[in-house]
Amino acid sequence: MFCIECGSENKQMVGEICIDCFLKEFEMIEIPKNINVEICSHCNSRLEEGKWSDSFIPEEEIIYRALERNIKINELVENEEINLEIDQIKGTIAECFVEVVGDVYGVTIDETHDTSVRILKTVCPSCSKLQSGYYESVIQFRADNREIKSEEYDKADEIVARTLEKQAKTDKLAYCPQIAKLKEGYDYYIGSLKTGRKIAEALKDEFGGIIKESPRLISEDKSTGKGLYRIWISVRIPEFESKDIIEYENKLIQVTDIGKNRVVGLDIKTNKKHNIPLKNMESIKLVKKSSEIETTTIISMSPKIIQILDPSDFSAVDLEMNEEFSDYNIGDEIKLIKIENYIYLIK
Ligand SMILES: [Zn+2]
Ligand SMILES: [Zn+2]
Repeated sequence: MFCIECGSENKQMVGEICIDCFLKEFEMIEIPKNINVEICSHCNSRLEEGKWSDSFIPEEEIIYRALERNIKINELVENEEINLEIDQIKGTIAECFVEVVGDVYGVTIDETHDTSVRILKTVCPSCSKLQSGYYESVIQFRADNREIKSEEYDKADEIVARTLEKQAKTDKLAYCPQIAKLKEGYDYYIGSLKTGRKIAEALKDEFGGIIKESPRLISEDKSTGKGLYRIWISVRIPEFESKDIIEYENKLIQVTDIGKNRVVGLDIKTNKKHNIPLKNMESIKLVKKSSEIETTTIISMSPKIIQILDPSDFSAVDLEMNEEFSDYNIGDEIKLIKIENYIYLIK
């Protein structure tokens, strides 16, 4: 056998030509001279095969991945080792160098390629939504029958910010483009519905209350007939607060804790503990604010009677002794609340 190209004999043959002539024309990899990558100038996510993915990866990493994606290795190559290098970055163009070492028909070859990766900076759909103030949900933070206190607004702001930060890891629309500060409460505009719902839940966790969603049709896609909805999520926190006296199922209860789904309190007549589901918030009546709780002094005590001073006129009032107060002493201060001319002692 002799090579039909160079005529040499006694060489390893690849078809009708010798290995040397074969390798002269052979390239282990194919890589385009110019590679374009579209990345978002705001979040660094990149467009790949029509999809935006992997936000927040560094630019160099984007270049390396673009090179990797564009390399086609010939199937004759074995034991290949590919080394990628960025020579220099000039403006938006990265001059790169690709070195391949591999075996072809038992011969080890070293091959180099120059290529450039051009980074086209655009704005991804999520960022353009953010810039245009796009939002899918509005959280209406309200209190039942009362104004919201400034500490409650501060707490709510903090919860919204914290939840957005947490959600931002998985939801690119976790942002709040606007807070409308209305007399009746704040409206938090939230980029996505998913995150809007998470925030509403977090607010409920903190304050208790009731969440209600009401979708409003914003526009209709003529081609699909599908409606675009924006969801208003109302978070209505209770009128009562911890330590207030409420009435529920004919019982007078002092609130000790407001949780995510329930109110815990003590019956001020029997001192029994009650759990009231917050979904029954409508049936809970605020009777007295904790600010109306007064303090007085015990004048005398007997096993059946506890006598105190009525703080309004300093008259002595006899009340039924309750086991709860048996460890009190004469002269001690004691708390009381007046409800419809009755005096209730509370702990
Ligand atoms: Zn040859
Ligand atoms: Zn972006």
